[in-house]
Amino acid sequence: MDDQLERLNRLPLRDDLRGQHPYGAPQIDVPIQLNVNENTYGVPQDVQEAIVEAVREVAAGLNRYPDREFTALREALAEYLGHGLGAEQLWAANGSNEVLQQLLQAFGGPGRSVLSFPPTYSMYPLLASGTGTAYIKGERAEDFGLSAESAARQVREHAPSIVILCSPNNPTGTALGLDVVEAVYAAGEESQTVVIVDEAYAEFAHTGTQSALTLLPGRPRLVVSRTMSKAFALAGARLGYLAAAPEVVDALRLVRLPYHLSAVTQATALAALRHRTSLMAEVEAIKGQRDRIVRELAGLGLSPAASDSNFVFVRGFEDPRRIWEGLLESGIIVRDVGIPGSLRITAGTEAETTAFLDRLRELLVTA
Ligand SMILES: *Cc1c(COP(=O)(O)O)cnc(C)c1O
Repeated sequence: MDDQLERLNRLPLRDDLRGQHPYGAPQIDVPIQLNVNENTYGVPQDVQEAIVEAVREVAAGLNRYPDREFTALREALAEYLGHGLGAEQLWAANGSNEVLQQLLQAFGGPGRSVLSFPPTYSMYPLLASGTGTAYIKGERAEDFGLSAESAARQVREHAPSIVILCSPNNPTGTALGLDVVEAVYAAGEESQTVVIVDEAYAEFAHTGTQSALTLLPGRPRLVVSRTMSKAFALAGARLGYLAAAPEVVDALRLVRLPYHLSAVTQATALAALRHRTSLMAEVEAIKGQRDRIVRELAGLGLSPAASDSNFVFVRGFEDPRRIWEGLLESGIIVRDVGIPGSLRITAGTEAETTAFLDRLRELLVTA
């Protein structure tokens, strides 16, 4: 390994990539995987069959490049989101990570900057470095909250090219009020800051939580990013998307690779959208397990954060590493996000959640 690192260091790698580490949630094949916020329910049989059928239909034409504009998929995504959106306001790529990368390629880059508010999604600084965009770490309150005044002040102070607001936030799980998005957008008026709201977990939010989609009319620098990787139980298919003004979509056409969305991906995503009622049937059950984790961990004297997502961020562990390892010994993997005294747990099926809670109770008494 050290040998390989040495060989890497001898390559003429970009200076700003030297010494960096790749995105690294461990992929360990254990029975109960509660570490990367996937939907742990498998794809239902009827949806599997619809996907296979849709892929079969395009297979004969795979000698040709796919529809570069993935028009049918954009129409279906617009219809799913509602809010009066049209296909010309939708864009998609291989996961919302690629969508975010394209946004940074178009609106960031050398000499420009992106601001986000850690602890937040660990990919933001990596996407910044990959695109040569300076990454600015914003500040949150002690309890990891972010008020409209604080966020707006930091935008005025740094005048970044881009701000990314993650709502519900990963890893803390809490959704932002729309007042924060409005204030950040207004504060970025002078610097013409592009405001991205990453709503990867929007479908898990408590009833009544408003989406930033409602703020799109009249805000040409606002972008709302979504994904089929979480609520749609389709992380393996790689489909993320955004809604924004049509001119933002035009900007992304300048940086996307030609034919970036394969015909297989387009067919898969379309079939999934057509069968979304079946595919998303377990979202309510997952929310129930999420609320159960919050309730039960609070009862154990830990400090779970309020969550609008399919995971729970928990503080108050004396030795999170010991807990993480103890769970792993029992075939359960959760996420150590590197924040002292904390762990992040994905809400799985009822049986998975029960197994996690039972083992955790054991580990806490043997402390
Ligand atoms: C999981 C996640 C995504 C999804 O990424 P994909 O590339 O669509 O799989 C995006 N943003 C956040 C904050 C996430 O946690």
